[in-house]
Amino acid sequence: MKIQETLAEGKTKKIYATDETDQLIMEFLDVIPQETSKKATLKGKGAINAAISAYLFDYLGSYNVPTHFIKQLDDNSLVVKKLDMIPFKMVIWNLACDSLAKRLGLKDGTVLETPVLELYLKNAKLKNPLINDYHAYALGLCDRSEMGSIVRIATKVNAVLKSFFYRKKLTLANFELEFGKSGSQVLMGDELSPDTFTVWDDVDTDKMDKKPFQITPEAAKTVYPKLHERLLK
Ligand code: ADP
Repeated sequence: MKIQETLAEGKTKKIYATDETDQLIMEFLDVIPQETSKKATLKGKGAINAAISAYLFDYLGSYNVPTHFIKQLDDNSLVVKKLDMIPFKMVIWNLACDSLAKRLGLKDGTVLETPVLELYLKNAKLKNPLINDYHAYALGLCDRSEMGSIVRIATKVNAVLKSFFYRKKLTLANFELEFGKSGSQVLMGDELSPDTFTVWDDVDTDKMDKKPFQITPEAAKTVYPKLHERLLK
């Protein structure tokens, strides 16, 4: 497979075209996502996220979850199926924390009776606003049948990952997914890594309260390798 031109450079990944027209290379960069436009980097972080993503996509594949993952190419890169991306992120919450806890006035870490699925329009200029399925149809982002597939995939991914993390003594608090279309089929795209999920440690016994792994630039040096070790070893 031959790497060709850069198609997109996002916050933490680069996407390249290849000589196989329906396949892309997704390279994970050593960049730590931040609220501000400042860039923080950490050597080896891209390889950790590539390894965790590859492992989890492969794992989900064994449960017949349709994803774009084809194979890991090298330390930092995956080969994926080229998708027509649907421009929203879905966030799936099992615990109310961070923005959801604030918005609903709940204590950080409250266990939700059923998972909450949220959609955020991918539009940086508008600061990625929260939308619902009616907005998605009105804006022509997807149709009802595609939304049905998206919700089914997200619900299954949540069930599979929740028990995977549980066995690693971690609680999957929330995670975000992106979807795209290959012909008429809806597939899960993008990545599954510490940049897109929040986990709480079940073995942090310092306090009665469980604690989330917070990825601040200061904590990053220890958090990424620690999660890598806990998840894949
Ligand atoms: P962002 O800043 O947009 O979150 P990233 O650094 O995550 O960017 O860059 C990855 C980009 O590649 C995103 O725009 C994402 O939607 C897109 N993408 C992910 N998977 C695929 C795929 N299979 N086909 C085409 N584009 C994809």
